[in-house]
Amino acid sequence: IFLPHLVASMEVEETYIMIKPDGVQRGLVGEIISRFEKKGFKLTGLKLFQCPKELAQEHYTELQSKPFFPKLIDYITSGPVVCMAWEGAGVVASARKLIGATNPLNAEPGTIRGDLAVQTGRNVVHGSDSPENGKREIALWFKEGELSQWTPAQEPWLKE
Ligand code: UDP
Repeated sequence: IFLPHLVASMEVEETYIMIKPDGVQRGLVGEIISRFEKKGFKLTGLKLFQCPKELAQEHYTELQSKPFFPKLIDYITSGPVVCMAWEGAGVVASARKLIGATNPLNAEPGTIRGDLAVQTGRNVVHGSDSPENGKREIALWFKEGELSQWTPAQEPWLKE
């Protein structure tokens, strides 16, 4: 049987993951990075960064008309964030599962938000919602030369 949606999810994708200012302030950087690292995805970009207002607005441009938009921009620019690019087959949807529901009270135990947060307005981490947005967001947050292509030594032990 040919299942195009399953085939598509196995393509190598990129996702933009960001530890929000509350995650940095609460000392959760190592814990959050570990979740993606242990799963077996490949880190291709990583930096601590104080986000300018314009970049936050561009990143969340789809939410511009929402009532919470100004508070969201204040939150994201309130301190340094950790910007990450992760690569792998199916990484976009898988990272969203590892992160959990937008409202941490609805997020399953075992997910980052389910384990580490209590409010939507302080939900510690961002993950791209589609492969297209993954590419768009990585291009937005990283400059050329800030991403690394490399082959993890564990690769033969992760994939048959
Ligand atoms: N957000 C908020 N109030 C809301 C909905 C969203 O403050 O009612 C914030 C929250 O930080 C969320 C971000 O806006 O993570 C982006 O919202 P989205 O619906 O895209 O959720 P996500 O993809 O981050 O789960």
